[in-house]
Amino acid sequence: MKKLIIANWKLNPTTLKDAQKLAASISVKAKNKVVLCPPTVYLSRIDYPNLGAQDCFWQDKGPFTGQVSPIQLQSMGIKYCIVGHSEKRAVGDTDEMVNLKLKTLIQNGLTSILCVGFGTTVEQDDLEVTDVLKNQLDADLAGVDSSKIIVAYEPVWAIGTGKNATPEHAEKVAIFVKTKYGAPKVLYGGSVNAGNAKEFLDQPNIGGLLVGGASLIAKDFNQIINL
Ligand code: PEP
Repeated sequence: MKKLIIANWKLNPTTLKDAQKLAASISVKAKNKVVLCPPTVYLSRIDYPNLGAQDCFWQDKGPFTGQVSPIQLQSMGIKYCIVGHSEKRAVGDTDEMVNLKLKTLIQNGLTSILCVGFGTTVEQDDLEVTDVLKNQLDADLAGVDSSKIIVAYEPVWAIGTGKNATPEHAEKVAIFVKTKYGAPKVLYGGSVNAGNAKEFLDQPNIGGLLVGGASLIAKDFNQIINL
């Protein structure tokens, strides 16, 4: 069965030309379903079947300088949006804000990729990790139809560090999130690369991957999406 692979380009690359070049080098007929999430400023100039934003605001319009709303994304044909990424939580996004964003995305028919795992540490055992995630998910999903939300488990210590979680641990977390919250799909993210991606994709309850750094290297990313 096809799995879902999300490319989070973060604040890369530095020019539109390079962004278009990167998008053009990513296979559109991969074995798995692929969503590219370039910086918002490039979204309207990137040609790829499935595109997503890396974040959004919870109001439709008004005096909110610098923000981008789900209704605006929807009007551009954008179907996906990442919410609650650790790099956003680290600069002030709270669970209450994440919750409002999820509600507004649903109202506008976009599919949310809800990232959880901020506040986890490499020393924690499975039970301690699920405790952290439970607090986050209870608050983020309050009053939200979780059957519409894709959850990405991203232990913060694994993001961009070259140290990934074990596939067995990620699988246990995926089972916990699916059974307790009814999320239809749980992805793993955190230092996924062409060498370790298959071990995660082979886990039956991991529905796909959220890939940061390796999604900027066309050769590696094409390998990952064709596993
Ligand atoms: C991410 O951006 O969410 C991420 C998981 O990054 P990386 O793959 O570089 O760890």
